[in-house]
Amino acid sequence: EAEAENEDAEAMRPRPAVVTVMGHVDHGKTRLLDAVRNSNVTEGEAGGITQHIGAYQVYVDHEGEERGLTFIDTPGHEAFTAMRARGAKVTDIAVLVVAADDGVMPQTVEALNHAKAAGVPIVVAVNKIDKEGASPDKIRGQLTEYDLVPEEYGGETMFVDVSARQHQNIEQLLEAVLLTADAALELEANPEKEARGVAIEAHLDKGRGAVATVLVQSGTLRVGDNMVAGNGFGRVRAMFDENGQAVEEAEPSRPVQVLGLSTVPRAGDSFLVTTEDRTARQIAEKREAAERNANLAKRRKRISLENFDQAVAEGKIDTLNLILKGDVSGAVEALEDSLLKIDVGEEVQLRVIHRGVGAITQNDVNLATVDDAIIIGFNVRPAERVQELADAEGVDMRFYSVIYAAIDDIENALKGMLKPEYEEVSLGSAEIREVFRSSKFGNIAGSIVRSGVIRRNAKARLVRDGAVVADSLAIESLRRYKDDATEVRDGFECGIGLGSFNDIQEGDVIETWEMREIPRV
Ligand code: GDP
Repeated sequence: EAEAENEDAEAMRPRPAVVTVMGHVDHGKTRLLDAVRNSNVTEGEAGGITQHIGAYQVYVDHEGEERGLTFIDTPGHEAFTAMRARGAKVTDIAVLVVAADDGVMPQTVEALNHAKAAGVPIVVAVNKIDKEGASPDKIRGQLTEYDLVPEEYGGETMFVDVSARQHQNIEQLLEAVLLTADAALELEANPEKEARGVAIEAHLDKGRGAVATVLVQSGTLRVGDNMVAGNGFGRVRAMFDENGQAVEEAEPSRPVQVLGLSTVPRAGDSFLVTTEDRTARQIAEKREAAERNANLAKRRKRISLENFDQAVAEGKIDTLNLILKGDVSGAVEALEDSLLKIDVGEEVQLRVIHRGVGAITQNDVNLATVDDAIIIGFNVRPAERVQELADAEGVDMRFYSVIYAAIDDIENALKGMLKPEYEEVSLGSAEIREVFRSSKFGNIAGSIVRSGVIRRNAKARLVRDGAVVADSLAIESLRRYKDDATEVRDGFECGIGLGSFNDIQEGDVIETWEMREIPRV
């Protein structure tokens, strides 16, 4: 399916910016998203039940003009990055929340790096200014070190001091987001065509089937449209907005909950509308096949207990990362203790990057993909849809109910991980007495074995007058009289073929050897 579009410039219309809220845990992302949403509840909806559908739209008065903004309602850069990993570009602007009483923290830095990596402009919300000890200036100073220089200091980043709890300066923050979007981006889309966009969130509902929140990125999505989302397809049966209101159509940047898909898409899956049901089915099938191939390729690359030694031998890895999950903390600790007692030698390491109690979650799998780890489950199973995700990502998950069994498997894999060392072991030598030129087999060296044995398939070199003439040869054929032989001993005659190597003469010496693994002690 062609993603490239030749847009008719005249059909382009401005569209609302899509905003993601990021920042360190407990700095107030969730609270801020609530405050923004509530800043905008119209009278009819006040007191009504707002639905969490993964995104919502607000309207801002901007110089007498009503402007929309779309907020992704899953705070944090994890969701943002998970979507990017699927190739989806959803976010136009990032609001970086920093608590004024706490300051720049590791996840603040991570979030801003993720936004920068995606080329997304940042607006800083300095939150919790109502708190004692809040120091918005300190935050400005700290962020300057990460190239987020406040406008008031001559930089390009807008900082707004807010209190999500007291609903202070929320309007100013929205204004800053609008100004930043207008200054940095030309946000336009053509609403007059079949819709395309991205799934933001989805789940399976017992009564309603697949329920997916999608963000329309171009075109207009309508009830009755045939759509493909991820590997699923279907006819849009109904659509709802974040207030639970049924809607008939959704234009660019509008998030809507969609009913009617055959399967549940994943966050970051793209969707598109086609005129015909049959086409939708075909595209879905094609996508599934393409994904299967991509998954196979991924799985081949991803680390597993089976392919460690290979990866180590190829110098790709020297650490085995593990994620341990168990039913009770005592079991997880016992497992970890035993694992850390394994003698792994000097060349490789074993590292437990995460441990926890409970079912294996999507987060565990995501972590495993990022850090290339293996998941060990002890008396636990994966949560719903997690096995599917692990399969798709090629993450190796193993389940045990006996500690020894887990230790055994890992110990074996680690032993394989140790780079085997080989040494050259001389086998024997033979002197060429006569050369037979055979049109069928090439030149055959009629020889007598002078020491040790000559073995078929062994490596060989040719020595003439004490000097090596050719190395990296192999005993490709070995015969005694008319029979094939596997080896011929000292004192016996034989016919030796060195494959396509034909430069042999009477009096040459063929030396043979084998590479043998040095046994570990
Ligand atoms: P998140 O982890 O970033 O989503 O943070 P939350 O929104 O869950 O907020 C973490 C805690 O900080 C909660 O107890 C909030 O009530 C509190 N909090 C959030 N914003 C403010 C604020 O502006 N002022 C004060 N005093 N507390 C806040």
